[in-house]
Amino acid sequence: MRDFILTCQWYTIMGVGIVFFACLYFVFGGLNWLLSRRVLPAFGYGRVLDPRPLAPQQLRRELGESAVTIFLFGVGMVFPWGLLQLGWARLAEQASGWQIALEILFMVVWNEVHFYLSHRLLHVSWLKRFHLPHHRSVVTTPWTCYSFTPLEAMMLGNVLLLPMLLHDFSIYALAFVPVFSIVFNNIGHSNYDYLPDADRDRWWLNGARRHHLHHACYHGNYGFMFPFMDRLFATELAPDAAQARIARSEKPSGKRDAA
Ligand SMILES: [Zn+2]
Ligand SMILES: [Zn+2]
Repeated sequence: MRDFILTCQWYTIMGVGIVFFACLYFVFGGLNWLLSRRVLPAFGYGRVLDPRPLAPQQLRRELGESAVTIFLFGVGMVFPWGLLQLGWARLAEQASGWQIALEILFMVVWNEVHFYLSHRLLHVSWLKRFHLPHHRSVVTTPWTCYSFTPLEAMMLGNVLLLPMLLHDFSIYALAFVPVFSIVFNNIGHSNYDYLPDADRDRWWLNGARRHHLHHACYHGNYGFMFPFMDRLFATELAPDAAQARIARSEKPSGKRDAA
């Protein structure tokens, strides 16, 4: 894989990138959809976090915006590829398993920091119009994952560039970043409590509850999967922050959208 990345043409890396991100979006989104809408409810495990119906045309909008993001993420692969071609960044030649594991761990933490800072920026008044379309999904779905405006996609998609300038990563560690990212992204937008233990409201793995609260309340819980940045900057929401809001807007006859 290392040699392929280093020797391929710019248009090849863009094409491979588009296919790669499309596969991530549809495979993991589909899996999340199946688990949270079909399999786990059938076994009586877990629960829907926000039972309100989806907005009209929500899925169509999410899929349309995500298609643009997939294109931009794919085409954007030319930037890390370009850093390698210019010699500004290099790939590790023979990384050990330990090195790869440590690099992935580092990227998980960096990804949280990068996402939190970018996301906070997207909530300031002069940038929020580029983020509000993502928040039109008050009740999220697995297809909300890449439902970004182009500027937002470019801000969130540049996560690899700075670390690559500072360290020679293994290609496997770099390629794994979008993979764990889509898994965490799916957990966050699943609108399904995969950890239905009431005592674990503030548990560090409960990204689904935290990001559901972000969409339901808009302010607070700006982190991606883990709570440490919100705790550091005191932006964490209380576990019941959306309760009154959901109870107020739930229509007595309202049925959850079959989608
Ligand atoms: Zn937001
Ligand atoms: Zn979101």
